[in-house]
Amino acid sequence: MTDLATHLARLDGHLARFRDRGILNLIGGESRPALSGATFDTRSPVDESLIARVALGDAADIDAAARAAKAAFPAWAALEGAKRKAILHRIADLIEERAEEIALCECWDTGQAWRFMSKAALRGAENFRYFADLAPQARDGQALPTATHLNVTSRSPIGPVGVITPWNTPFMLSTWKIAPALAAGCTIVHKPAEFSPLTARLLAEICLEAGLPPGVLNLVNGMGEGAGKALTEHPDIKAIAFVGESRTGSMIMKQGADTLKRVHFELGGKNPVVVFDDADLDRALDAVIFMIYSLNGERCTSSSRLLVQNTIADDFHTRLVERVNAIRVGHPLDPATEIGPLIHKTHFDKVTGYVAIGQQDGATLAAGGTRVGDQGWFVRPTLFTHATPQMRIAQEEIFGPVLTSLSFADEDEALAIANGVPYGLTGYVWTNDLTRALRFSQGLEAGMIWVNSENVRHLPTPFGGVKNSGIGRDGAKWSFEFYMEQKNTAFALGQHKIQRLGV
Ligand code: NAD
Repeated sequence: MTDLATHLARLDGHLARFRDRGILNLIGGESRPALSGATFDTRSPVDESLIARVALGDAADIDAAARAAKAAFPAWAALEGAKRKAILHRIADLIEERAEEIALCECWDTGQAWRFMSKAALRGAENFRYFADLAPQARDGQALPTATHLNVTSRSPIGPVGVITPWNTPFMLSTWKIAPALAAGCTIVHKPAEFSPLTARLLAEICLEAGLPPGVLNLVNGMGEGAGKALTEHPDIKAIAFVGESRTGSMIMKQGADTLKRVHFELGGKNPVVVFDDADLDRALDAVIFMIYSLNGERCTSSSRLLVQNTIADDFHTRLVERVNAIRVGHPLDPATEIGPLIHKTHFDKVTGYVAIGQQDGATLAAGGTRVGDQGWFVRPTLFTHATPQMRIAQEEIFGPVLTSLSFADEDEALAIANGVPYGLTGYVWTNDLTRALRFSQGLEAGMIWVNSENVRHLPTPFGGVKNSGIGRDGAKWSFEFYMEQKNTAFALGQHKIQRLGV
C-alpha cells in the first residue's frame, strides 16, 4: 500500500503545472484565462496552502462558452450513437489511467479521505462506460398505433446545457451529469464549485484528449453569483443540471424563469436511518457509522438522523460512542485516515456552529464536537444523543460528520419523525420483520430507500429526492428524459373520417 509520503510526492508532481500556469477555463477546446484577467485562489483544507490561482470567469466567459457549445451542438447531436459511444469509452479509459492523479488532487482540494476518493475516480469512469453503452439507444422511441394512426415517438438532444456542481465529491458528481448529457448528444458548459476546481479541469482535459470535439464540453470557473448565475440566465442554454443546496436550487429556478429553463435539481438531505429492535444490530451499527462519517459527512445521502427504538437505544448508543471515538481523523492522503478536514473555514464554522446549537437546545453531546489540531479544518466525528425532533440539529442539513440520535417507541412515531423534515432524499430502514419493512418504506417520504443496507448505488436505478431534496431523477432513461426532447409523429393509416366544416 502506498503511504502518505509517497502520495504527497506524487501529488506535488501533478500540481506543478497548476502552480505555474494556474487553472484555466476551457472554451471551444482552448485553455484561456478569464476574459477580465481576474483570478481567485484555491487552497487546501489540510493546511490552507495555495494550490493554484483559478480563472475567475464571469458573464462574458459564460457567454463565450455558451456560444462555443451552441456552435458545436449540431455536429455532436448528429454524430452516430456508436461514435459517441466510442468517445465516451475512451474518456473512461483515460480516467482509469489517471485515476490516481484524480484521486490525489481530489483529496488535496476537498479534504476527502484517500480510501474513498480512489474509488470515486473509478466510479466516474464507470459512469462514462454505463452511458457510453446507452448512447446508441438514446434516440429510440416507441410505435404507438391506434386503429387510424401510427404514432411514432423519437428523442432528440435538447441543446447546449449547463452543469453546476458542488464541492463534496466534485469529480464523481461531474461525471454523473456530464456522461449522460454527452451520451444524449447535448453540448455542455460546466461551472464547478469554487472551493474545488481541480478535478473538473482534469476531466475537461481528458475529454478533449479522448477525442471529444472542441466546444462540446466547456469549462468556466467562477463564483455562484457570477459565472453560475450567468449560466442559468443564458438564452442559448436550454437546461440546467444542478447539484447543490436547496436554497441555491430555489435561486436558480428564479434566475432561469425568464428563459424558461428546464431544471434538474439534486439538493440537500436530512436523511433518517431507522433502527428497530428486531434488526441485525451489528450490521445496523456498521451502516449507521459508515453512512454519516464516510466522506467527512459531506454527503447528500448521509444518514444524519439516527432513529433508534427506545428498547435498545441505550445499548446502541454505548456501542456507537465507542466506535465514533475510535474513528481516525487525519491527513486525507494517509491511507489509514477515515475522516479528513472539512472543505473550508466557512463550512468548518457552520458545522462547529451546530455543535454549539445542539448543546444550547439541550441535546447530549456524546462524542466529538472539537477541533483537531490548530491547522486545517479537522473536526472530531460528533454524536448527539437525546435529541428531539424539532431541534435544529434534527431538522437542518449540517453536511458534516455530525449524527443526531432520536429515539422512538413504535412504528407510527418513527414514521412521523422520519417524515417530519422539509427534505426527502434517502431513507434507511433496519428491521428483520419483512411486512414492517414493506409497510414502513412505503410510508417514508424519500426518493431512495435502502432496507437493511447502506447506500449501494446501482446505475440503472433512479437517483433523486422528493420535497426540498430535488426535482427529477438521474440514471438510465431518467437522465435521457431530462437531456432530451420527445417528439411524437402521427401517420394516418387510411381514410379516417375528417370533420368537414363549411361544406
Ligand atoms: P451550493 O448550492 O452552495 O453550490 C453548488 C454550486 O452552485 C456551486 O458551483 C456554486 O458556485 C453554484 N451556485 C451558487 N449560487 C449560485 C447561483 N445563484 N446561481 C448559479 N449557481 C450558483 O452547494 P455546495 O455547498 O457546493 O454543496 C453542498 C450541497 O450540495 C449540500 O446541500 C448537499 O446536500 C448538496 N448535494 C446534493 C446531492 C444530491 O445528489 N442530492 C449530491 C451532492 C451534494
